[in-house]
Amino acid sequence: MTEGGFPRAAQRFDSVGFSEIVKVRNRVLELLSAGHKVWRFEGGEPYMPTPQPIKDAMAEALARNETRYAPSSGIPELRRAIVEKVRAKNEIPADDESPIVVNGGMHGLFSAFATLLDPGDEVLMFSPYWTPITDVITYHGAAPVLVPTGQARQDGLTAALEKRRTPKTKLLYWNSPNNPTGDVFSRAECEEICAFVRDQGLAIISDEAYEDLIYEGEGHVSPASLPGMLERTISVFTLSKTFSMTGWRAGYVLVPKRWRLPMQTVVLYSINGVSTPTQWAALAALKLSQDFLVEARAGYRRRRDALVAGLRAAGFEIEPPRAALYLFPKVSSVLGSSSAAAAQQLLSTVRIATVPGVVFGPEGEGHLRFSFSVSEETVSGGVEALKSLAPTLAR
Ligand code: PMP
Repeated sequence: MTEGGFPRAAQRFDSVGFSEIVKVRNRVLELLSAGHKVWRFEGGEPYMPTPQPIKDAMAEALARNETRYAPSSGIPELRRAIVEKVRAKNEIPADDESPIVVNGGMHGLFSAFATLLDPGDEVLMFSPYWTPITDVITYHGAAPVLVPTGQARQDGLTAALEKRRTPKTKLLYWNSPNNPTGDVFSRAECEEICAFVRDQGLAIISDEAYEDLIYEGEGHVSPASLPGMLERTISVFTLSKTFSMTGWRAGYVLVPKRWRLPMQTVVLYSINGVSTPTQWAALAALKLSQDFLVEARAGYRRRRDALVAGLRAAGFEIEPPRAALYLFPKVSSVLGSSSAAAAQQLLSTVRIATVPGVVFGPEGEGHLRFSFSVSEETVSGGVEALKSLAPTLAR
């Protein structure tokens, strides 16, 4: 098809959005370039730099001239370390050939959906959800079917899933801990959902990006660790959040044997493997002492609690989340029911940048997402700025 004498872009993009979060960031950048101070809570990155041993490992790999093509599924040393990690820590009985090294969680998820989805398929997913997922599903011609998390907990998870399952349902996308709510599914909930998936003959794509950022209560549960789930789960992990490596673009997936060749094919033809020096850095990350994480989590907890107190003082409704990097307060009683208007208002009046909750699904409407993974100066500056919100509303 042509448009004004030129071939038009592929039709599949007609139904695929482009990150709403990027649009918020662009508006913030405009304000900054106009010389305004902005308290930035719209991001989603660890607040600390990548640990030095990881950087050193890349420098050493470069010095050894580890700069050539690696096997497209990853260097053997890293794949071995991944198998050891997931067996010991996630209790996933992965076999030696199951890991594929990918360019971060986003690429792992894209490749997983590409491996499983045909046009017309349906994907069950809890909502609120991480924004890009519905777009990745529609990119493949499939349809997301949203399961409101709060309502499902009230109605019973199995009943809520059964109600939305159709003959077209192929898989369930699972994200715990959750972006944007910081919510964690309990072991009992995970078992119930996995039993549904097993009984219905479905697959799971399990997004475990925040597995290490749980601050209290019950720990992380990997669906693939539960009985009968290994064969029907693609587990997607990333080093981005755990090791403060968002810009390195490194992650890994575990793929059951029956889908391994298609997934290896997607990775081969999309990236032909992650950059070789980055893989050596990823190996150092997996071998890093857990002291780094203990310290990072203490810093996250401190920031979370300070920001929660500030948000409550501003009249927003929020329970401290157990995990991840985000606060997702209900702001409608203070700023009205449109989260897009609320985000705009916070930015234009007190220069606080957030993400409107509605971009995370209809259940997010009336909420704003604040990342608490920011400098302590930004937390205290943001809390002070929130204090000046009330007078602007009264006017
Ligand atoms: N899953 C979730 C739920 C996320 O929030 C993110 C990043 N914000 C990712 C996956 C992907 O992260 P990356 O591509 O940096 O590994």
